Amino acid sequence: MAFPLQGEDTCQHLLPTPLPNPYWVGFESNLAKELGITVDASGLPQDPRWLEVLSGIALETHEHTFADPIATVYSGHQFGIWAGQLGDGRAILLGDLRGYELQLKGSGITRYSRMGDGRAVLRSSIREFLCSEAMHALGVPTSRALAVTGSKKSVLRESLETAAVCTRLAPSFIRVGHFEHFAAARSTEHLTTMADYLLTHHYPECQGTDDPYLALFAAISERTAKLVAHWQAIGFCHGVLNSDNISILGLTIDYGPFGFLDRFQMDHICNHSDGQGRYAYQRQPQIMHWNMACLAGAMLPLIETRYGSELAQEHLQKTLEEFPEIYRAAWLKHFRTKLGLLTPNPDDTSLVESLLQLMHHNRVDFTNTFRALSHFDASHDARSNPLRDQFLNRDAFDTWMQSYVARLKEEKCSHAERQSHMLATNPKFVLRNYLAQIAIEKAQNDDFSEVKRLLAVLQDPFSEQPGLEEYAAPPPAALEHIEVSCSS
Ligand code: AMP
Ligand code: MG
Repeated sequence: MAFPLQGEDTCQHLLPTPLPNPYWVGFESNLAKELGITVDASGLPQDPRWLEVLSGIALETHEHTFADPIATVYSGHQFGIWAGQLGDGRAILLGDLRGYELQLKGSGITRYSRMGDGRAVLRSSIREFLCSEAMHALGVPTSRALAVTGSKKSVLRESLETAAVCTRLAPSFIRVGHFEHFAAARSTEHLTTMADYLLTHHYPECQGTDDPYLALFAAISERTAKLVAHWQAIGFCHGVLNSDNISILGLTIDYGPFGFLDRFQMDHICNHSDGQGRYAYQRQPQIMHWNMACLAGAMLPLIETRYGSELAQEHLQKTLEEFPEIYRAAWLKHFRTKLGLLTPNPDDTSLVESLLQLMHHNRVDFTNTFRALSHFDASHDARSNPLRDQFLNRDAFDTWMQSYVARLKEEKCSHAERQSHMLATNPKFVLRNYLAQIAIEKAQNDDFSEVKRLLAVLQDPFSEQPGLEEYAAPPPAALEHIEVSCSS
């Protein structure tokens, strides 16, 4: 088992609670093949026992046995407040497969379920499934999703819904919250075991350094800074950046009330439960920095043993202070490529920021604006660019375009070369909430075809995919304000 900790105070060994009479809602056959699962012509596993395994009914297929499923304990800060003990309340770690841990999310009550029913509803399972694979195709570090199985078993949220299980995968599901838990429990032994495990298996580059634990913290913080820069660059809002939802590997995990920006708003809040906008789009970098401060506090006992308390704090603080700089550099790199600026220029930050301001004030579609800019040929008159009509303030758009065109003239590459970079970084297709909603509503009526179709579109986000333009369209007015919340 990849989870490194043993003992009653770290995890519970248990069996998933079977999902009654399950059926396939979605299955990702490319990932399945990568895992060595034989897939038939319909794209489903040849061995029917996979349906049972991924619904929590059985632990064995022809080729694999998952002998020791567990749920793990962690703690965390929720919306900035220490929440104490949490844990895998509805996700059960089945075991390992080809370098991944397999988790069944929604597979029943565990010791850590608190008041919850251990289940996940169909809509949130489909959203996690689609978004994990969409993010992967966009090149964003993320947990993966292999399948969703559904059932007629009813579960109560705001109304009666049906249960589902999402199978998700990551090289490790260790979270910032795991460190926080064992720091709060004053268990330096468990902290050490976890850090040593991470050094061996996931951060080997830190092992030969002067202080591997400090290097480990720096590496986690760096990955996290780069991750959030990538989110900003594709207009992704996570929705619940509580420290228990932050991967120790710098992956996007725990997809809940996330959202891709349609009309761009810096202060967009995607989670209906986040009244104060703590996790609004423009706050994400700050919040991830804050989460790294939580991690630094939790890792302090590891660093203290070598340096003593005061010096250890100083070292951690110094490393933590590097976060904004790493973030800024990664952010600028993304946005330079998004604008086709291949030779760095010191004025690029203000060019990007003024564009984002303009997009914000004109409420233009985030994804489509960058995609349209990718098609813009600087040798043509910018005033005839159809993108111009998306901006209410055309004068402001013209002014920005003038400086953009002037900047492009400094570039040595050809239009074609620039365009190929831009089209490979500015997606045409992202998982807009309304697209997910359409697939969900069909699935709620037992038609899973749209889940499959949408998944296929999202798996190739940078291609034109002629004939599928409708999937690149901004939401129709009636579907512009779909509310998603922590209820899942
Ligand atoms: P989340 O907001 O999904 O990240 O969940 C926060 C915590 O609540 C985690 O410890 C989850 O395992 C737990 N949780 C959420 N929903 C349920 C549920 N339906 N049953 C049991 N535990 C849950
Ligand atoms: Mg969570």
